[in-house]
Amino acid sequence: MSTESVENRRHRVVVIGSGFGGLFGAKHLKHADVDVTLISKTSTHLFQPLLYQVATGILSVGEIAPATRLVLRKQKNAQVLLGDVIDIDVQAKTVTSQLLNQNTVTEFDSLIVATGAQQSYFGNDKFATYAPGMKTIDDALELRARILGAFEGAELATTQEMRDRLLTFVVIGAGPTGVELAGQIAELSDRTLEGTFHNIDPRDARVILLEGAGAVLGPMGPKLGGKAKRRLEKMGVEIQLNAMVTDVDAHGVTVKDADGTVRRIESSCKVWSAGVQGSPLGKMLAEQSEGTEVDRAGRVIVEPDLTIKGHPNIFVVGDLMSVPNVPGMAQGAIQGSTYAAKQIKAGLTDEAPQERKPFKYFNKGSMATVSRFSAVCQIGKLEFGGFIAWLAWLALHLYYLVGYRSRIVTVIQWFVTFLGRSRGQMAATEQWVFARLALETVNADEEDADELAAALGAPPAENGKSVERLSVEKAKALDKAHQAAADRKVG
Ligand SMILES: Cc1cc2nc3c(=O)[nH]c(=O)nc-3n(C[C@H](O)[C@H](O)[C@H](O)COP(=O)(O)OP(=O)(O)OC[C@H]3O[C@@H](n4cnc5c(N)ncnc54)[C@H](O)[C@@H]3O)c2cc1C
Repeated sequence: MSTESVENRRHRVVVIGSGFGGLFGAKHLKHADVDVTLISKTSTHLFQPLLYQVATGILSVGEIAPATRLVLRKQKNAQVLLGDVIDIDVQAKTVTSQLLNQNTVTEFDSLIVATGAQQSYFGNDKFATYAPGMKTIDDALELRARILGAFEGAELATTQEMRDRLLTFVVIGAGPTGVELAGQIAELSDRTLEGTFHNIDPRDARVILLEGAGAVLGPMGPKLGGKAKRRLEKMGVEIQLNAMVTDVDAHGVTVKDADGTVRRIESSCKVWSAGVQGSPLGKMLAEQSEGTEVDRAGRVIVEPDLTIKGHPNIFVVGDLMSVPNVPGMAQGAIQGSTYAAKQIKAGLTDEAPQERKPFKYFNKGSMATVSRFSAVCQIGKLEFGGFIAWLAWLALHLYYLVGYRSRIVTVIQWFVTFLGRSRGQMAATEQWVFARLALETVNADEEDADELAAALGAPPAENGKSVERLSVEKAKALDKAHQAAADRKVG
C-alpha cells in the first residue's frame, strides 16, 4: 500500500470491470494526469452481443474477447489486475480483490464500478444447472458443447423418445439474445449440419422459443417484434408466448400457460435468456451510502451524475446503474463511463461536484439479428427490418469490436457462414459441458478446493482454507502487516 503523501502522488482511479463500461472508462482517462487501475475477474474485454455466435460455432472466443492487458498496452497510466472484487470500503476508499486465495487491497481517490449484471433465474438458481445462461465465455462454450453434443447423442439414440428429447432445443426468453440464439440453432441444424449424420436428419430438430410475456422482442414494439416472429416461424422455430417456465430439470421444462394449463416439454438442451440481476457489488455500495437504493433487479439507483449519495467520487455505470430510460445496452455503458471519466478529469482542475451537468443518454437505437440476411432495427422513430437492417447490424458490430485483427477474422468467419453452409468453430469438448458443474462441486467442498488451488500454484491461505473468503478486516490486517514488513526493510 502506498505511503506517499497526497501532494506527491497522482490522483488514483480504480475501475472495476473490463466490459464496455470498464474498458471505455479506463480508455477515456488515457491522457489524464491520473493513475488508472482496472480490476476485473475476467482477463478479457468480452463483446457480449456476439456471444451467441460463439455458442453456435460461427466465431471463436478470441474474436470477441481480446485480452484487456493487450488492449491497454499503450496506455501508460493504466495497470490491469486480475481479481474478483469481494469488497469495496467507501470510507477507507479501498477495493479488495481476490485471485485464488490471495487478497489484494487497492486504494482509490475516484472509483468507477462497472461490474454489469448476471443471469437471473428469478430465485430459482437451481435451473442454471440444466439451462445455462448467456453471459460469459464459459456459458457460450458450454452451450456450444451442449448443442452439438445433443446432435451427437441423437445419432446414437436407441429409442425414438430419446432421439426426440435430444433433438428438441428450448430457448427461454424471447429478448434479443433468445431470438438470435433460436435463429442460429435453427440455421445450424438446417444448413450446417444437414447431411452430416447417418441415423438422424438434423433438420428434424425442433427449436422452441418460450416467452412469459405476450410478444417477441417486447421492448422493440409490435411492428419489429412481429417481423422477427414471422421470420423465425418461417425458419421453423416454434414460438410459444405467455408461456411461463415453472421448472427445469435434466430432461426438460415444465411450462404454465396463460389459461393455467401446466405441460411438459422433453428437451436435453435448454438455454436461459430470460432475465438479469445486477452484480452483488451494487447492493454492497448501496448499503454503505445512506439513501442510495437498488431496484428490483439489483441495479443501483444513482444520482443524476451517476454517483452514489454522499460519495461524488464513486460512479456506478453500465448495466449496474439504474437510470430512467437508459436500457441495459452497450451504448448505456459506453456513454455512462465516458461521462464518469469526464467528471473525474474535470475534478482534477477543482471543478466542484455540484457544478456537474447531469448525465444525458443519447439513444442511438437498438437492433437484433434473426437469421442470416435478416435483422430488425430501431433508430429513433425509424423502424425497419430485413436485409438493410442486417447490413446495418453487421457494420455496427464490426465498428464496436475491439482490435483490427478481430474485425478481419470476424469478417472472414461471417463470409464462410453466411454465404456458404459451413461454420469455422465447431469444436466442442466434454470438459466444456461438465466443467461448470465440476467447479461448483469442488468449490462447495473446501478440502478439494484447497487442493485444486495448491495444484494451480496458489500461495497457502490463512488456516489452510483457500476458498473461504477472507473477511475485509482480516485482509486489511494482513495488508498492514505486509506494509509494516516492507517499511522495516526500507528502514
Ligand atoms: C448475450 C448478450 C447479448 C447482448 N446483445 C446486445 C446488443 O446486441 N446490443 C447492445 O447494445 N447490448 C447488448 N447486450 C448488452 C450489453 O452487452 C451490456 O449492456 C454491456 O455489456 C454492459 O456493459 P457493462 O460494462 O456494464 O457490463 P459487462 O459488459 O457485463 O462487464 C462487466 C465486467 O465486470 C467484471 N466483473 C463482474 N463482477 C466482478 C467482480 N466482482 N470483480 C471484478 N470484476 C467483475 C466482469 O468480468 C466484466 O468484465 C447483450 C448482452 C448479452 C449478455
